[in-house]
Amino acid sequence: MHRRIFLQNSLLTLGALTLGKEQIVKVMINEPWKITMLTDNIGIFTERGGTIAFHFSKEGITVIDAQFPDTAQHLIDELKKKNEQPFHLLINTHHHGDHTAGNIAFKDLLNRVLAHENSLANQKRVAIANKSEDKQLYPNQTFGGTWKEDIGKEKIAINYFGAAHTNGDVIIHFNHANIAHVGDLVFNRRHPFVDRSAGANIQSWIKVLDSAIKKYDDKTLFVCGHSGSGYDVTGKKDMLLSFHDYLNNVLKFTNDEMKAGKTKEEILKATEIPGSPEWKGDGIERPLTAAFEELSNAG
Ligand SMILES: [Zn+2]
Ligand SMILES: [Zn+2]
Repeated sequence: MHRRIFLQNSLLTLGALTLGKEQIVKVMINEPWKITMLTDNIGIFTERGGTIAFHFSKEGITVIDAQFPDTAQHLIDELKKKNEQPFHLLINTHHHGDHTAGNIAFKDLLNRVLAHENSLANQKRVAIANKSEDKQLYPNQTFGGTWKEDIGKEKIAINYFGAAHTNGDVIIHFNHANIAHVGDLVFNRRHPFVDRSAGANIQSWIKVLDSAIKKYDDKTLFVCGHSGSGYDVTGKKDMLLSFHDYLNNVLKFTNDEMKAGKTKEEILKATEIPGSPEWKGDGIERPLTAAFEELSNAG
């Protein structure tokens, strides 16, 4: 509380000194979300949950992922101020609630929600188990492998490379802008969720990242779902390579520990993945548990 007031005061002081009137008003409102334009017509929205990307065109606004109902509404209100076109298409990178719970906010705004067929199956399975089907807006268009469509002057190409963070993660590439939303296939310097209940597999995830690293070029700008404190949700190919190495290090560390006779509980006491010290903060038990289970099953 005190820290928040202090931050606001120092921002206001700074604002009064260096910003125009309109900008000072924005600082005072203290918006909880952030919109960053990556090009003239493609931007990202961050608030709570997985990073949202959006694309403006004459055919309408395309949105990738939807966070939660309340944050999706913030996005909708902001995009309506920025662009007069109607909403055209919503794409989900995968089924997790921090990417699809906000779909429902688009219920009366668009007719098309698109996702990989496994993402839809996972979303339904989880919603039925949680008795939350009335809170879902399910994809009404699905695909298995690839999907392509021209939207305005952009070509959007979606690729599915196999099981990874779930069994339904896709990469959505804006060909012309050369921007790719990779969803939760990359956690930039943050320990990932590995959703084995939805078909996740770390060994396959590493192969998926290999495919992505081959498929896109050195100029591609990647947008990922989550990042650690102080790190961006956008980056070039090195962001993918670093996370690829991290997953390899998780498997290697777990494998070495198992070979040394360590129990699962002992392995979970680790506070750092050797070789990937940049992955800090909580959640290290998530990838280690998944790696342990995966390697136990394989053995
Ligand atoms: Zn997520
Ligand atoms: Zn996820």
